Amino acid sequence: MTAHILLLPGDGIGPEVTAAARVCLEAAASRAGLSLSFDEAPFGGAGIDACGSPLPEETLQKARASDAVFLGAVGGPAWDSAPQRPEAGLLGLRKALGLFANLRPVKVMAGLEDFSPLRPERVRGADLLIVRELTGGLYFGAREEGRERASDSCVYTAEEVTRIARVAFEAARGRSGRVTSVDKANVLATSRLWRAVVEDVARDFPDVALDHQLVDSAAMALVTNPARFDVILTENLFGDILSDEAAVIAGSIGLLGSASLGADGPGLFEPIHGSAPDIAGQDKANPAGAIASAALLLRHGLKQAEAADRLEAALEAQLRAGPLTADLGGDSGCAAFAEKVAAHAAQA
Ligand code: ATP
Ligand code: MG
Repeated sequence: MTAHILLLPGDGIGPEVTAAARVCLEAAASRAGLSLSFDEAPFGGAGIDACGSPLPEETLQKARASDAVFLGAVGGPAWDSAPQRPEAGLLGLRKALGLFANLRPVKVMAGLEDFSPLRPERVRGADLLIVRELTGGLYFGAREEGRERASDSCVYTAEEVTRIARVAFEAARGRSGRVTSVDKANVLATSRLWRAVVEDVARDFPDVALDHQLVDSAAMALVTNPARFDVILTENLFGDILSDEAAVIAGSIGLLGSASLGADGPGLFEPIHGSAPDIAGQDKANPAGAIASAALLLRHGLKQAEAADRLEAALEAQLRAGPLTADLGGDSGCAAFAEKVAAHAAQA
C-alpha cells in the first residue's frame, strides 16, 4: 500500500523546509519498507499568485483525497495589500478537514539545553506534548461587537471534550503515560464540564495517570518546571497561549513541529514558524521544525510509530553532531542539514 502525501510548500522559506522534510520522510519511510507518493499544490500566497485564491479548489480536492497534508508556511509582505490573505487559506483548510486537535511537542534534548533562553537547569529533561482543542470554545462562540458593550461566548459540548481528551490519552500511551488537563474550573462552567468529561474518558485509559491543573498555575509551572509535564490537554484559548509559551522552552522557533488532526481523513502537519521572508530563498532556514513535523506525519498521520521514532532519533543525532543552521549559531545550509538527517535515518 502506498500512502499519498500532499505537499503545500507555500511561501517564504516554506518551499525550502518542505523539500528538506521530504528528503527525510523518504529516507525514514524507505528504511521502514513504507511506500510514499508525493503531490504538490499551490496554497497561501502561492495559491493567490497561481489561481487567485489562498485555498484553490483543486488544492482542497487534492488535500481531501490524500492520506496526509504537509505544509511549509504561508504569508509574507508580498500579499499585505492583497484582497485575500494567505492565512485565510489555512483557516479554510483546517475547517474543511475538520481538524479539531492540535498537537505541539516540545523537547529539550540532553546536552542541548543552551538553545533555550531559560536557565539550563530549569529546562533539563523537558519533553512535553500540548494537545489543544482547535475548533470550539471562545474562538467559535457567538460574538457581539460594540463600543459600549461586547461579548464572546465560550461553549463546549461533552462530545467535543470527549474527542479531544481521547487524542490526549492515546498520545500519552506512546509517551510517559501522564495527562495533565488544564482548565479554570474554579471559575468557568465550561471548565467544570471539561473536568467531568475528562474524568469519564480517563476510565477508558486505566494505564494513563491523570491530574488537573488550573491554567494560571500551569502557565507558571511551564517555565519554572517544564519537566514535570508529559501531555498537557487543554481548550482552545488556553492552548493557544500555553503553546506559544512552551515554544520558548526549546529555543529556536525553527525547531518545533505541529500536527492538526480530525476525526478521520487526513491530518495537517507543519512547522510552527512562519514564512520568515527575511531569510527566504537563501538556504539559511532551519529545517528541524519541518523535519519534526514530518515525524509527526509518520506517527499520527500514517500510524507508523517505528518510522517516526527513527526520524526523530536521526534529527536528534544531527542536532547533537552539527553543523547546525545559522539560527543555532552554525554554518550549515538548510538542504545540507536535511541530507545529513536523512543519512542518519537511512542507517539507524
Ligand atoms: P508569520 O507572520 O508568517 O508568522 P513572523 O515574522 O511572525 O511571520 P516567522 O516567519 O516565524 O514569524 O519569523 C520570525 C523570525 O524567526 C524571523 O527573524 C525569521 O527569520 C526567524 N525564523 C523563523 N523560522 C525560522 C527557521 N526555520 N529557521 C531560522 N530562522 C527562522
Ligand atoms: Mg508569526
